[in-house]
Amino acid sequence: MNDLTQEPASAERSLNFLEEIIENSIAAGDGRVQTRFPPEPNGYLHIGHAKSICLNFGLAKKYGGKCNLRFDDTNPVKEDVEYVDSIKEDVRWLGFEWAGEHYASDYFEQLYLWAVELIKKGLAYVDDQSQEEIRLSRGTVTVPGKESPWRNRSVEENLDLFARMKAGEFADGEKVLRAKIDMAHPNMLLRDPIMYRILHAEHHRTGNAWCIYPMYDYAHGESDSIERITHSICTLEFDVHRPLYDWFIEKLGIFPSHQYEFARLNLTYTMMSKRKLLQLVQEKIVMGWDDPRMPTICALRRRGYTPESVRMFADKVGVAKRDNVIDLGLLEFCVREDLNRRAERRMAVLDPIRVVITNYPEGKTETVECVNNPEDESAGKRAVPFGRELYIERSDFMENPPKKYYRLSPGGEVRLRYAYLIRCDEVVKDAEGRVVELRCTYDPESGGGKSSDGRKVKGVIHWVSVPTAVPAEVRLFDRLFTRESLDDLEEGKTFVDYLNPDSLRTVTGYLEPSLGEAAVGERFQFERLGYFCKDKDSSADKPVFNRTVTLKDSWAKMASK
Ligand code: ATP
Ligand code: MG
Repeated sequence: MNDLTQEPASAERSLNFLEEIIENSIAAGDGRVQTRFPPEPNGYLHIGHAKSICLNFGLAKKYGGKCNLRFDDTNPVKEDVEYVDSIKEDVRWLGFEWAGEHYASDYFEQLYLWAVELIKKGLAYVDDQSQEEIRLSRGTVTVPGKESPWRNRSVEENLDLFARMKAGEFADGEKVLRAKIDMAHPNMLLRDPIMYRILHAEHHRTGNAWCIYPMYDYAHGESDSIERITHSICTLEFDVHRPLYDWFIEKLGIFPSHQYEFARLNLTYTMMSKRKLLQLVQEKIVMGWDDPRMPTICALRRRGYTPESVRMFADKVGVAKRDNVIDLGLLEFCVREDLNRRAERRMAVLDPIRVVITNYPEGKTETVECVNNPEDESAGKRAVPFGRELYIERSDFMENPPKKYYRLSPGGEVRLRYAYLIRCDEVVKDAEGRVVELRCTYDPESGGGKSSDGRKVKGVIHWVSVPTAVPAEVRLFDRLFTRESLDDLEEGKTFVDYLNPDSLRTVTGYLEPSLGEAAVGERFQFERLGYFCKDKDSSADKPVFNRTVTLKDSWAKMASK
């Protein structure tokens, strides 16, 4: 387990570097906090985005500020309203509400006018070179770039050409608008970066109104400035972009937003590129964006994660200034912590053997009282049917048990959770020698978890009564990839080569009857097996449950009770 689990709760932890910056500004008399979460609507949000959402919305909340949701929709080719809708749903599910809902595309007119202003100031020019020529003339870190032959066009000519670019007179790639900075700048990004390219493509919001689209570096800072963002928080790889971010704002003399960088979230056994996640969906390697094995927020939701557990995770991860990789176990720790408090307990058997209690009267049934949640008394109790025939877990029986095996074995006694003690008298096998039935006797005086003569029985196992059991499809997940890091792969391999063939195992489980009525999305602890959530694939006659996470040391805990 990651040692981050040992960290103090959020209330006690020390300030992160962004909180320090904000508290310093408050001390200096300017404590306004306006942040934004700026997704590109080209895919579903993942746990890395959740980190950024918790950070941006969390800072605004903590300091009485505001956080906007801004769709960074400047690339019409890859973007779609489907993604816009899912992003809004996911942010709300995490428990945040944005102050303003904005779209970079709403600023296209303003961005265009500012580009014209930069041309007039002699700070931008239209370049006729192809993308390839531009790339080749950019130089290297040690060799300065070469100036474009079109770099010294007159302001009038640039204004005319840029207007004609906008009017659709040129084909894709024929011209670009570039900032005129310095082709020998030590920071390659400042060697006359491209501000606009021609793209005759329909945009999901602006339709065909535009055929020139602003590049990220130009659009992002200017959008921040329009929204008077005080803390524009982004991931570390953008630190080299910051001088450019500042350059545009300074040359335009507009509201001075500032960019701050933090380390992006990386998780072991997980890959978080939207492009690659899309590939998994398109190649049907997973069931969809919300396949419970995916690191997307909608997948975590479907798997049974709670918003509280994701927020707890984001908080524990903290805000680092240097790249690191977080153990997937920390995410699982958080959901266990949270569900332990809120999920009601139920009994289910996933790999059954039939138990027949030979001295239990035929035809008799009774119910036993089971505690719904030992962590929460207000959750109350429920009555669970008990009878002569039960299912128990195959792993709770051993014909030749080792020492310290406290569960059921021939001649041995075990406690049925909340019910009686039973002793195994006879093992029935099929022709192949596989155990199919255990014939047992029960002690009628040992009901309700007590034993009349004070004898000690260590093992406690769960069970489900056969006639009332509800069969269900139960999906057991493992990590999607077999490799801890998917960043530095072996020669000639891609991430697809490291898919875990056993990431999904489906079994038929037998559930206590109350689970038949559960609602889709409802979460439970199946005693000793883990936390489970009812899946949307459920039908009236066949519920489907996803295992969110296993219980750590579940059996050890139960056995000592
Ligand atoms: P991808 O490369 O997967 O497409 P992205 O960074 O391009 O991801 P955006 O939609 O541009 O995705 O991201 C929106 C916001 O979320 C950005 O501010 C980005 O920095 C942040 N973000 C994305 N991935 C992570 C991550 N792994 N950890 C923390 N923040 C992230
Ligand atoms: Mg991006």
